[in-house]
Amino acid sequence: MSDSAYSVLLGSLGLIIAASELAQQPREVVQVAVLITAGLVIVAFYLLACVIWPYANCTRCAGDGKSRSLSGKKFRNCPRCKGTGRRRRIGRRLLDRRNNHRNR
Ligand SMILES: [Zn+2]
Repeated sequence: MSDSAYSVLLGSLGLIIAASELAQQPREVVQVAVLITAGLVIVAFYLLACVIWPYANCTRCAGDGKSRSLSGKKFRNCPRCKGTGRRRRIGRRLLDRRNNHRNR
């Protein structure tokens, strides 16, 4: 094989590799874009759910609102939720904080 034919072969091989890399890169960019979009959609639905259902059961009393004695007959208010039995969900707390900043 002559030197010129060899260099042409190498050059075309390089072009093919460069072309395949160019073809691959947009696909990865599209995959990342799809992942980011899916994440944003999930976050949006979570925040929407936090608007509609802002509360969840208190984690310490499981929504009971009572801190019971050892016998289970006597109780006082749950110290964490102060007897309400509920806690504000994390997304709702974020939304409330944002609204408070906006109103100032
Ligand atoms: Zn509680």
